[in-house]
Amino acid sequence: MALIVKKFGGSSVANAERVFNVANIIIDDYKKGNDVVTVVSAQGDTTDDLIEKALEINPNGPSKREMDMLLSAGEQISCSLLAMAIESLGYPVVSLLGWQAGFQTNSTYSMARIKKVDPERINMELSKKNIVIVAGFQGLNKYDDITTLGRGGSDTSAVAIAATLKADRCQIYTDVDGVYTADPRLVSNAKKLKAITYNEMLELASLGAQVLNNRSVEMAKKYNVELEVLSSLERKEGTIVKEVTSMEKMLIRGVTKDDKVARISVIGLSDTPGVAFKLFNQLASKKINVDIILQSVGRNGTKDITFTVAMDNCTEAVATIEEMKTILNYSDIKSDLNVSKVSIVGAGMESHPGIASKMFEALFDKNINIQMIATSETKISVLIDAEDSERAVKAIHEKLIG
Ligand code: ADP
Ligand code: ASP
Ligand code: MG
Repeated sequence: MALIVKKFGGSSVANAERVFNVANIIIDDYKKGNDVVTVVSAQGDTTDDLIEKALEINPNGPSKREMDMLLSAGEQISCSLLAMAIESLGYPVVSLLGWQAGFQTNSTYSMARIKKVDPERINMELSKKNIVIVAGFQGLNKYDDITTLGRGGSDTSAVAIAATLKADRCQIYTDVDGVYTADPRLVSNAKKLKAITYNEMLELASLGAQVLNNRSVEMAKKYNVELEVLSSLERKEGTIVKEVTSMEKMLIRGVTKDDKVARISVIGLSDTPGVAFKLFNQLASKKINVDIILQSVGRNGTKDITFTVAMDNCTEAVATIEEMKTILNYSDIKSDLNVSKVSIVGAGMESHPGIASKMFEALFDKNINIQMIATSETKISVLIDAEDSERAVKAIHEKLIG
């Protein structure tokens, strides 16, 4: 007998037929004598639809506290419906909201971090031989307010439960049958990976591969929870995410893109010490993460600094810099949302200088202009026009993975 944690994403529970499909997957494992705890996301596009409803009421964006109150409703619907399906098939089941399942978070509404999962209630239900269904993506803060964990956060809910309960298996079911070398919906000949390390998966997830939420991978690595990413629609082996893999000698593990980025240029800054410090210190104090940074060589006593931020942070970042106009004394600020970051991920890239040039050649072949470049031991990223991003992923994948 094993303790199995499963997670099903929105498309896996999108309608009644899919809900019953998931119910049967759960029941199959339960019938074998296993304890099963299942985390679910909101059905289909429910979360996006709820966001739209909120913007109908307040187009300027309601408070994050109220957004969390609203968005958590999506998972409340799916977890009760899934429990009803299992109940109707004659098996003992209980659905729990995040707080009932013991999810305690900090108070960063809309992007809360899990502080602790108190396993008492889940354990009690398992001891009664109940199948447990938990609403993903949500928790409770110290003010007894509902919080949510950020988009895609149900993956993290599942990993947190698996870590807390020391589960034997943590299975993330989705609408593709594993992790591929590129989004299989974009690159038809992308290769499915048998296994991938936490670090590589973390890079891929952080650079835009939404198949796993990056915080969930971070947590899986921290608590050594082995993950399996697999399809809810086809019963076949998926991809294992773990510490070490004895995989194929493949240098590049994946190509990915992130369209939700923005580029900001601050032009005509004085070419003196402390300018970058003042600029980025102020952004950091507002918790705005900066990604690729490029500073021009000083000329005639001035310089330009260009950097990227997440698209959602662009307005706030520009406003922050405008407030600093007298301190920074720049001549102009420009922002562009029409950009995309395309990246390749793989361990040991620093010792293969040819990789970067091949990536750039693939872009040159397609006449795609590179605006910015960033490299590290495990990744190379380029910033390009958003409209070129799909072509870029395909071209780079073709050249480097084939
Ligand atoms: P869920 O609703 O189950 O959480 P998501 O939509 O969040 O599912 O993630 C699954 C999607 O991730 C797939 O449909 C696929 O298009 C996309 N994806 C992006 N990059 C990759 C990749 N490298 N491997 C597999 N899927 C990927
Ligand atoms: N329903 C939430 C979202 O759409 C959480 C999740 O799917 O993991 O982001
Ligand atoms: Mg997801």
